Order: sequence, then C-alpha cells, then structure tokens
Amino acid sequence: MIEITLLGTGSPLPDPDRAGPSTLIRAGSTTLLIDAGRGVLMRAAAVGASAASLDAVLLTHLHSDHITDLSDVITSRWVTSFQPAPLTIVGPSGTSEVVDGLLAALAPDIRYRIAHHADLTWTPPVDVHEVTEGVCLKTPEVTVLAGPTDHRPVSPTIAFRVEHGERSVVAAGDTVPCESLDALCLGADAIVHTALRTDLLEAAPLQRLQDVCEYHSSVEQVAQTAARAGAATLVLTHYVPALTPDSEPEWRRRAAAHFAGRLELGDDLHQVVIP
Ligand SMILES: [Zn+2]
Ligand SMILES: [Zn+2]
Repeated sequence: MIEITLLGTGSPLPDPDRAGPSTLIRAGSTTLLIDAGRGVLMRAAAVGASAASLDAVLLTHLHSDHITDLSDVITSRWVTSFQPAPLTIVGPSGTSEVVDGLLAALAPDIRYRIAHHADLTWTPPVDVHEVTEGVCLKTPEVTVLAGPTDHRPVSPTIAFRVEHGERSVVAAGDTVPCESLDALCLGADAIVHTALRTDLLEAAPLQRLQDVCEYHSSVEQVAQTAARAGAATLVLTHYVPALTPDSEPEWRRRAAAHFAGRLELGDDLHQVVIP
C-alpha cells in the first residue's frame, strides 16, 4: 500500500487555500517529501508528518515555487533532532548549489542557536545527491528511481518513481510530455502530475501567463501520459489556474476524454491510497 497526500496543490501565485507544490508519499514506514513549496510543513503537520520524520526530500526541479520552504525543512529538522540526523535531499544537478546557498543564508541563525543551546553542537547536516536517472534511493522497503523530464529552459528536471512491494507511484513535476517520462511511468499504478488548463491560460491577455504553457503539460496531455503508461490512477496537482468547485467538472471532463482510469483531484491534504 502506498499513501499519497497532496500537501500543496497551488501554483507560484499565493493562494489563501492552497500551499505551494509538495506531495507526501508514505510506503510502509518510509516517508518521502516530493518538492517543498510554500507552507509545506504546516500541511505536513496536519497529517502527522514533520521535518524530523522524513526519510528524504526529492526535488523535481529548482524552480522557486517547488523549493520555497526547503529552508524551513532543513532548519526544522535540525532544531527538532537531538542527535545529528542528516537530511537526505535528492534532486537534479544544481541542488548542491541551492542547498549551499540556503545554508549560507541561515548562517546567522545557525550561530545563534548553537550559542544558545548547550546540547546543540552541530550545524544542520544535509546529504545531497544530484541525480539524472536510475535508482536514486533505497530503503529496506522502498526503491526510488529518477528519470529525466522536459521543462526547458529549466534544465535538468526529473521525475521520481517510488516502488514498494508490488506497487509503484510516479511523481512527475513540471514537464511537457516526453519519452523519458513515459519510460519512467510505464506500468506504474499511479501517476501524480502537475497540470494546467492551457485553454484558459492561452486565452489570457497577458504574455507572462501564456509563456507558462510552453513548458508545462495541459490537463489533456497529462491524461494522455497516464493512458500511455497504462496507469490505473491519475492524481492531478499544481492546478493553474486554481481548481474551484465550479471548474472541477471541466478539469475532469478534459482529463477523462483521454484517460479512462481513476481520476483524483482535490484540495490540499487530499489523500489517495493505492492499496
Ligand atoms: Zn511549478
Ligand atoms: Zn517549474
């Protein structure tokens, strides 16, 4: 059984009801965080997860909305651990540069806390792995594979396939459809994918919104990716524009035109169990 929780279903634009992109995957006793958008730890707390309980953070790419609160994850894990507990961070090339930069920005805070707490004698330990494809993480219960995606000019970007027993879930970040994502998704039970209503964005009289369509999948394209993979379940997240009760039927209709399986859309904290 794999449990998927959409911690944040929002877009880069601040939304009072939607945290930034992040998804929690729990399989056995393994807890994985995919991306770390705005408000991720607030949402994680709502389902009993914390920075200290994470086995790894998996970053699909280094766009700011997907890593806004990585700093919070690093700090919160550090100050709530009573012995050094390295945070494993797996991401594309460039991840080390980002993490080093965050730690540099946190330097005064790190000095304050070490000076103040007698029992806190270490700086935040991180264990960064930059990956492109193949097995990128193994626990006794879970194997995680990475595969390249296409979000150019943002590059490199990756998706993750989490395998646990007979079950597998792919978490795709922002990407247009591509063969390497198809290869990673093939035969997966469920696919979690970011999705856009390009029909709405392309009609918006604002070039910056229209630009967004160039390097993301439309809801129709996401559904086609899931259909090619033969997945039983498709979970949509990172809705642009935001999902509303009024718009949800149209999101569903557009996806169902290309994908006949189980379709999951929802608000933050929506959970999907793959039994
Ligand atoms: Zn994004
Ligand atoms: Zn992106």
